[in-house]
Amino acid sequence: MLRNKKTALFSLGLISSISLTAMAQAPQHHVVVAPQCLIKHTDFSFKTLSETASFVLIETNEAGIDKLIDAKTQYRASGCGGFVNVTESWDAFQPKTLAKDKRAKQFLIDYTKPTKSISNLSKVGYEIKYEKQVNTLLSQLNPQMMWDNLSTLSSFQDRYANSDHGVKAANWIKDYVETLAKNNQRSDVTVYTIPTGSYKQPSVIAKIGTSSAPGIVIGAHMDTLSGSFSKKPGADDDGSGTVTVLEVARTLLSSGMTFNKPIYFMWYAAEEQGLVGSGYVVSEFKKKNIPVDAVLHFDMTGYAHKNESTMWLMSDYSNKELTAYLEKLINTYVKQPVKYTACGYACSDHASWNKGGFAAAMPFESSMNNDNPNIHSSQDTMDKLSLSHMTDFAKLGTSFVVELAQPLA
Ligand SMILES: [Zn+2]
Repeated sequence: MLRNKKTALFSLGLISSISLTAMAQAPQHHVVVAPQCLIKHTDFSFKTLSETASFVLIETNEAGIDKLIDAKTQYRASGCGGFVNVTESWDAFQPKTLAKDKRAKQFLIDYTKPTKSISNLSKVGYEIKYEKQVNTLLSQLNPQMMWDNLSTLSSFQDRYANSDHGVKAANWIKDYVETLAKNNQRSDVTVYTIPTGSYKQPSVIAKIGTSSAPGIVIGAHMDTLSGSFSKKPGADDDGSGTVTVLEVARTLLSSGMTFNKPIYFMWYAAEEQGLVGSGYVVSEFKKKNIPVDAVLHFDMTGYAHKNESTMWLMSDYSNKELTAYLEKLINTYVKQPVKYTACGYACSDHASWNKGGFAAAMPFESSMNNDNPNIHSSQDTMDKLSLSHMTDFAKLGTSFVVELAQPLA
């Protein structure tokens, strides 16, 4: 199909071989669920498959995805949120015998009905039990390592899900964790990738521990927008979350500490394209029946509005008990003020887990009204970030995994 189109365009001599290459690389068929309020902010005509009062199911191409990204960037303070690229689920949706409009309606209603995330942990309660072990690890966090890693990650032209730079960034993260495991002689670490459908960049997963007990997940998205026209350093979005998770992993692997439950460190691909990488990760976990007790997601941990050290917690599309537990962890271990904010529909990868029925929570650098104004541009650079703010999130991440995964000694 694509080849025919290419040949036709080529024979007309309309486009150069360079743009042909770019066309061939970008996935062209996309089906998206978006809130009505986001669509309202775009000037693109989408092919609507179905709609409800709050949501639309649309079929679009790469240009449409770019328009949705523009809208979610520009109007993020409105609390409308983002969109989910549901192409794979839509294509697999049965029954195909239903007329397309009826099928679309059914899909959209099913897809957007509120999910109730349940965790085994809520039965036993979320406790603070391992202060000694947590405090030992907190003293080993090394902010300079985070800063150095962020410098490397923001030096790529971009970490776009469909560029070679994006693949190189994913490989750099994978190599970093593999080297850590090797240097610390850890035989209980598995590092692997989960492919992202038609996007080049895979998500990277590092599992620590070999037990089949329910896992504890801590993650961030590694991708940025495309750097074809201008560099996309993505220092804050989400280089900051990426290195926050890397530093928790480094500290834990070097400590030699082992746990009752496995810990999954994750760096998701293609978040910007509609939570695509985390969507594939969650469906892989569901397909393989891998149990997960709790998910922590970092998307932007480095920008401190007016230099305030307040840590914000997302109150929507997340598990309430787990979010309240984050506040308890911050009070105990980080000792910074805590406030709540909301980010709307599908604003980041925690929403993929929440949708899958897993307990997920997302702390954030600021309120949604006052987040980093430079994201998604060439100005998302390290000089606007606070290393001490980022370090506070690394402390939160460390206390989260240690308390919930239960250290063995
Ligand atoms: Zn982000």
